[in-house]
Amino acid sequence: MDKLDVKKALMDAWQTLGVELAPKRRGHSSLQPVVDAERVFHALADTPWMPAQELARELGFGRDRLLLAYKCMQGAKGLSGRFKESIHSDYYNVIRHYFNTPFYTLVFFVGTTCPSRCVFCPNVTVHSDGHRTLTGYGRGMPLMDESTIDTMFRELERLKIDGTGLLVKISGGLEPMTDVETLTHIARRAKDLGVPVKLFTNGILLNTDKRRRAALMVGDIRVSLSTSVADQYETINFGRRTPRPRMRFDHLKENLRNLVQMRDRSGSGTKIGFNSIIMPDNTEQVIPLMEMARDLGLDYIDFKPDYFGTVSEAEQATIMTTVKRAMALSKDARWKGLYVHFAGSMWREHLYWRSWSGVCDAVKQVGYKIFVTPFGHLCPIHYGAFPHGHTHPEEELTRWSVGRLGADAHFMDVLAHPHPIPDVPWSHLNPFELMLSLEIERESRDRTWGIPVTCSPYHTRYRHEMPSELVDAWRRQSGHAL
Ligand code: SF4
Repeated sequence: MDKLDVKKALMDAWQTLGVELAPKRRGHSSLQPVVDAERVFHALADTPWMPAQELARELGFGRDRLLLAYKCMQGAKGLSGRFKESIHSDYYNVIRHYFNTPFYTLVFFVGTTCPSRCVFCPNVTVHSDGHRTLTGYGRGMPLMDESTIDTMFRELERLKIDGTGLLVKISGGLEPMTDVETLTHIARRAKDLGVPVKLFTNGILLNTDKRRRAALMVGDIRVSLSTSVADQYETINFGRRTPRPRMRFDHLKENLRNLVQMRDRSGSGTKIGFNSIIMPDNTEQVIPLMEMARDLGLDYIDFKPDYFGTVSEAEQATIMTTVKRAMALSKDARWKGLYVHFAGSMWREHLYWRSWSGVCDAVKQVGYKIFVTPFGHLCPIHYGAFPHGHTHPEEELTRWSVGRLGADAHFMDVLAHPHPIPDVPWSHLNPFELMLSLEIERESRDRTWGIPVTCSPYHTRYRHEMPSELVDAWRRQSGHAL
């Protein structure tokens, strides 16, 4: 496909916009808004989270001039595609999914235990003799019952009817396959509602036909795996403890082979792939993991960096060289059929790696996504929902919970009246949450400065709306520059 000519797209948009702003006046001689919009486009491609007021100051614009440039960008067909070619493409994905159209993600944490003992797990303690213990999640706390889940899905139906896109993820708690009944119940309710479901699992318990059948009820199974070497896998997952035979690496591979076969026989159409973390210790595993995924008949492999680890410059350079090589290789016919994706945050220039020192008003994230713990607590951020073995789970969950589902609290009520929770340092957020927080903040500051969302450069759905702020800005500007 030809690369979009940004200037031409902006010119076309301005022609249309100019006629709508002043129907009687034919032909607008000044192309200032086009020139301005092109500058704004390049600035936002570098810093898409920048509020309008800061941007205007940086470019030497007044608010009216920026408003016209924004509206011109909003109307330029194909511009969002050009934004997505930038290093911050995932920021635009967040905008497209959550801001340009109403969209809501529910992450159900299912499972309060796990057969693995990963060295990096916040719930695993590595003792001085190398022995590892896992702290169960919320031991003794009553689990959310099926009728609460049913009530919640009935409320979700209302959101869906009102036009909100929905996505359900089933993830750990600890390992969701340790509670197949709850997993099946959620998957069934989501299916009834026609909502896509993704399952995140370590794959160890995909070891019986019954469990595999349950997993295949969802549309996407993402298996966390970051090495293709048996010794390395067993060291990461079990340390000095010798894994039981059914938890060994060969069995994991067998589980996946059987899962793919069952999927193919049943025609369920479920996508199956790897979720892989690239760290200095396993950089050399990128291509072997791709080979393994392909040989097992998987559909994709999704590489991410270790968000909470640190890497030296030399290690980073090695990772980047490997990633570039893998990206080039993945285009080769030998990998046809395997979709290989590298998260934008793999690149050090990506916004995630800047030093962000602010805090996130976590309650604002309630409007976009929520984590539902096995006990029915609703937490807007992963940091607050995921168990940290060293802390008291009930205290921790209450601290970050905006409400608990049950007989006297329903999902939509909690969303409408969330309990206050503390701000969260930006450094505790994952990339998606950071981007969400930055965009919530950007929109809010723009509104305060007099830029309505109908003039946002990103909200293409408002192309045909002419808010009074824009008309006034045009009148004031046209007396001078236009
Ligand atoms: S698989 Fe997940 S929950 Fe289980 S020990 Fe590893 S990191 Fe923790």
